[in-house]
Amino acid sequence: MPILVDSDHCCGCAACANKCPNHAIIMQGNEEGFLHPLVSVEKCIECKVCEQVCPGLNPIKRKNSFPHAYIVQHKDDAIRRQSTSGGAFTAIATAILNKGGVVFGATMMEDYTVRHQSAHSIEELERFRNSKYVQSEIGCSYQEALCYLEDGRWVCFSGTPCQINGLYSFLGKDYSNLITVDFSCRAVPSPFVFLKYVEYRKKQQNEARRIVFRDKKRGYSYSTLAWYANEADQKNGNSVYRKSSEADEWLRLFLGGLCNRSSCNACFYQTPQRYSDFTLWDCWDVKSLAPEWDDNHGTTNVVVWSEKGLRMMDEMKSDIRYREYPFDQAKRAIVRTSSFTTRRNNHQFYVDVKSMDVADFFHKYAPTNVKVKSLSLGRYVMWRLHLHDKIRRIRHLFIHRKK
Ligand SMILES: Cc1cc2nc3c(=O)[nH]c(=O)nc-3n(C[C@H](O)[C@H](O)[C@H](O)COP(=O)(O)OP(=O)(O)OC[C@H]3O[C@@H](n4cnc5c(N)ncnc54)[C@H](O)[C@@H]3O)c2cc1C
Ligand code: SF4
Ligand code: SF4
Ligand code: SF4
Repeated sequence: MPILVDSDHCCGCAACANKCPNHAIIMQGNEEGFLHPLVSVEKCIECKVCEQVCPGLNPIKRKNSFPHAYIVQHKDDAIRRQSTSGGAFTAIATAILNKGGVVFGATMMEDYTVRHQSAHSIEELERFRNSKYVQSEIGCSYQEALCYLEDGRWVCFSGTPCQINGLYSFLGKDYSNLITVDFSCRAVPSPFVFLKYVEYRKKQQNEARRIVFRDKKRGYSYSTLAWYANEADQKNGNSVYRKSSEADEWLRLFLGGLCNRSSCNACFYQTPQRYSDFTLWDCWDVKSLAPEWDDNHGTTNVVVWSEKGLRMMDEMKSDIRYREYPFDQAKRAIVRTSSFTTRRNNHQFYVDVKSMDVADFFHKYAPTNVKVKSLSLGRYVMWRLHLHDKIRRIRHLFIHRKK
């Protein structure tokens, strides 16, 4: 039987399952709700191909690259508002579709699982926009991408850095018609605990149907997790629930590192050089890089790692505003920082999530106490008084001066 990377370091990329020639591996949820490979003794022919493609056992070699750093805003304001930050991902994906290509990204499904799917038209890109703070299931998408690549179609594949490493391990080489997009990744939280959060939310707000993790109704700097009853309400911004990171139960569990995947604890995919063509992340200091762009609708930091990526940037230029800045300034955000830690030894947490009533569970692990209520109210009042963004800018200025 093959020996794959130990479960604490398995990122769940599913390269092993996609590559197994005898379909002997299925990805199965563990006790924390994360997918891990399960090898069938009956089907396994001991070829060890899965071991060879596991990025946890064989880290892929970094490209020699000459990175370029930019800040980017999509020119279409509606797209930018739907996106997490500045909509750079949509501009890259659109350039691929314009070449007759296919785009892979993470979609929130009706059953509230997040899965990688393919898109073939500009309209379909909407479901990829905005971060889903739950681990996405790769399914068979690496195999599907390979078919398109071998057919000579352009492919854009987006995902977490470990998923992009998994894709390259699975492919075994780079393709001239492949563009990969990853991001600066804090961690991915448990899909199983997320379903408990959905159950809890629906008990509190029974009209809640559609979730947006980074809604910009109150602006980019005060983004909120919002639930809507239907698509029309979402378009009008009429939410049934809206809370920010200091108050929403799910964001507090995620940002507090309570239910993140153990591989995120010692993530070795976020190195000073990436294998991807593009790395994206939030730009909070647009004021210092391009003051005239600071409209609080969002800006993406983009690093382009490859010649291919630079050519793609050229093809995107009619859709975006962009400005280059020294790569050295970007390095800090690309390398994983120790502040993004995952709490471990949280055995009791997982015992409780399975045994407790959902309301009791969330009251225990993310209580809405006086401190939370005061912080939330204070932030809301600042926003109503148009002081929220000013205070954030002053804080940023102060932090940057100190650095
Ligand atoms: C789990 C997660 C953690 C992140 N952590 C940070 C962080 O700590 N700091 C930071 O600056 N930025 C982080 N980001 C990235 C950031 O939120 C934006 O994705 C990035 O700024 C690009 O924004 P955009 O407006 O250009 O694209 P968007 O339109 O927001 O594009 C979103 C892209 O992300 C992909 N995506 C969304 N959810 C998932 C998922 N669950 N798994 C895999 N791919 C997904 C989509 O397929 C799409 O390609 C994180 C994103 C995710 C999904
Ligand atoms: S050793 Fe070969 S057959 Fe067995 S699980 Fe791995 S890839 Fe599949
Ligand atoms: S290939 Fe990916 S999913 Fe499979 S064992 Fe390795 S890290 Fe885990
Ligand atoms: S933190 Fe690292 S291991 Fe965790 S999802 Fe992100 S890239 Fe993968």
